[in-house]
Amino acid sequence: MAEQYEAVIGLEIHAELLTESKMFCGCRVVDSVAATPNTAVCPVCLGMPGMLPVINRRAVEFALRVALALGCDIQPHNIFARKNYFYPDLPKGYQISQYELPIGRHGHLDVTLPGGETRRIGIRRVHMEEDTGKLTHLERGGSLVDYNRSGVPLLEIVSEPDIRSGEEARAYATRIRQILRYLGVNSGDMEKGVLRIEPNISLRPRGSQAFGTRTELKNLNSFRALAEGTDYELARQAAVLDAGGQVTQETRGWHDTRRETFSQRAKEEAEDYRYFAEPDLPPLTLDDNWIVTARAALPELPQAKEARYTGQLGLSPGEAAALADDRAVAEWFDAAVAAGGAPKTLANWILNDLFRLLNERGRRIDDIPVAPAALVALLDLVAQGALNLNSARDVLAEMLDSGRAPADIVAARGLTQISDEAALLALVEQTIADNPDALANYLGGKTALLGWFVGQVMRATRGQANPAVVNRLVAERLAARGPG
Ligand SMILES: [Zn+2]
Repeated sequence: MAEQYEAVIGLEIHAELLTESKMFCGCRVVDSVAATPNTAVCPVCLGMPGMLPVINRRAVEFALRVALALGCDIQPHNIFARKNYFYPDLPKGYQISQYELPIGRHGHLDVTLPGGETRRIGIRRVHMEEDTGKLTHLERGGSLVDYNRSGVPLLEIVSEPDIRSGEEARAYATRIRQILRYLGVNSGDMEKGVLRIEPNISLRPRGSQAFGTRTELKNLNSFRALAEGTDYELARQAAVLDAGGQVTQETRGWHDTRRETFSQRAKEEAEDYRYFAEPDLPPLTLDDNWIVTARAALPELPQAKEARYTGQLGLSPGEAAALADDRAVAEWFDAAVAAGGAPKTLANWILNDLFRLLNERGRRIDDIPVAPAALVALLDLVAQGALNLNSARDVLAEMLDSGRAPADIVAARGLTQISDEAALLALVEQTIADNPDALANYLGGKTALLGWFVGQVMRATRGQANPAVVNRLVAERLAARGPG
């Protein structure tokens, strides 16, 4: 993109909430890909005349958590509004949404950019609404509509236009998804469409405060598509402006195989929707107690975990980010540290050995019979010299499979590392006495045979001798026999 332009990007993120039932009726929320179409529907979410919506309390609770986690001012007096438009996936002819009084406003999110710099992105609003149905256009013509998704609770998170590139958009959206998962309100599965990210993209002359004409990008089903689509659109707009043309305000789609954007339809303005307060719903008032309780119940969020891991525990930024990425992993690590483990050693073992073993077995950390304290006990055996590293890795694998305690596995398999000097010295003496030819060659000048004697002792102990002790003893005993 040409240097004379500044990119101005804001993100709208739609997240389906992980509630049992829909936003305004008792229908179950079902997997929109797996479930038989139009089986989780009722007169309310089909928009039948005379139906009356009722607000889902759990959806409000989830929205409140997100708004609090994003540092928003919480709006105690909430009004739902009708957003009127016609589309076949919207049976009522309007969507119930929040317009003038959303649950959260004026929040922010600190995002670490790929270069390590931290940027604060403003959050303009967080509001509740309902999802639409799903259309499938047939190749031979005609379309099918599935209303299972109609009325599923949806949260919209709107950023300020503080984002400046595709990579920044990716970093911001990745962090939002991570927080939604931490809060347990969304699975983050973009392939299934439960998290949908739509950037608004425009250019303006560098130094200008006015906004250029924006386009909105849809159909982004991955973070990679978000970054690439945004950069593609910035370059396309720059080319239009460079040629003396004007950017058209419109919604554009991202073609995932051609990796380019294409025009979908003219973008509506807010006034096109003729918003008015939803007459079938009373104002929703959040009392102070509810807000205070929800705030107190927030988990430690990933940014705070990363800062604590690097600041207090001495981990690298990469280790901190890898451990904090998934809440279950982070909490497992926290519990291991609380059980007395050394943070740096634990980080190494979790990120390398444990992750590898989990991958091989297709399991998750919250689904294994190994308590965090058991890993600490295993690493204590290593630190005490009772177990060498290779044996410790084998023991960890068996802990995952059997759930047995590390000391039991070590005892049952006879893996205890032999560090006892008297026992090892006797073995060293025996090995030298059993191999007079090798000894003669050694004394005759073949000093490389020292390593061979060490190998014999290690083999005699099935690898469980402490190698450092054996090395020292062999060198001492050979030196005592004469010059090497
Ligand atoms: Zn329903």
